[in-house]
Amino acid sequence: MEERRQNNLGENFDIPASVLDEIQKNIEDIILNFDIPEGNKIDVIKKINFMYSQTRFLSVTDSLTGLYNRRHFEDTLEREFLRASRYKNNLSFAIIDVDFFKKVNDTYGHSTGDYVLKEVAYLILQNLRKTDMVFRYGGEEFAVIITETPKEKAIVPLERLRKAVEEYPFSYNGQDIKITISIGISEVCENITTVHQLFDDADRALYKAKENGRNQIQINL
Ligand code: GH3
Ligand code: MG
Ligand code: MG
Repeated sequence: MEERRQNNLGENFDIPASVLDEIQKNIEDIILNFDIPEGNKIDVIKKINFMYSQTRFLSVTDSLTGLYNRRHFEDTLEREFLRASRYKNNLSFAIIDVDFFKKVNDTYGHSTGDYVLKEVAYLILQNLRKTDMVFRYGGEEFAVIITETPKEKAIVPLERLRKAVEEYPFSYNGQDIKITISIGISEVCENITTVHQLFDDADRALYKAKENGRNQIQINL
């Protein structure tokens, strides 16, 4: 997906793939056309490669939480969905949304809100496996791709996460804050033929979790 999207942070590290390709082409041109002394060539190439990999890293990273950003999410979900569908692998997908987050900002201020988002991101990483992929999908919304796992099993670490957030002693500038999250889960199966369906199923489940009183997980059946 080429379109440049920014989250409502105005995050500025979200570089489209076409721009990265252009950068790479320019690097190749520089190496070919500039008169770099033979003895320095390796160092120059190493330095350029380093700068390039940093740019790549920043282009997929959310600057507030350090998680993968939305653009990387869209590319990755599509790829993992196609892989799981083709090879009939299990794949679960979850959307996590912080409950009443607007109220946190309104009551304690935006920097407290930012602190909460960072801590929630940390708790998500802590409670999931290294092989799971975690993204900050929107303002206070996170997405998780859980590979090789059916939804009945995916619910186990996600329930652990829900509880961990509920019990975590969020505290900022001497102010204690209670935070909960709601989670919607979907899974790749025969009825789901597009990545959008997979996303919408999880989104519908999340909506149900909110409607049912929040601080809970719902699975799309
Ligand atoms: P619900 O339980 O239904 O999810 O309610 P909510 O208040 O969490 O949902 P709503 O969508 O009404 O509000 C989300 C808020 O998240 C609004 C927006 O100001 C805030 N927000 C989005 N991105 C950021 C951010 O990067 N930092 C901070 N501090 N707030 C953010
Ligand atoms: Mg939301
Ligand atoms: Mg919310």
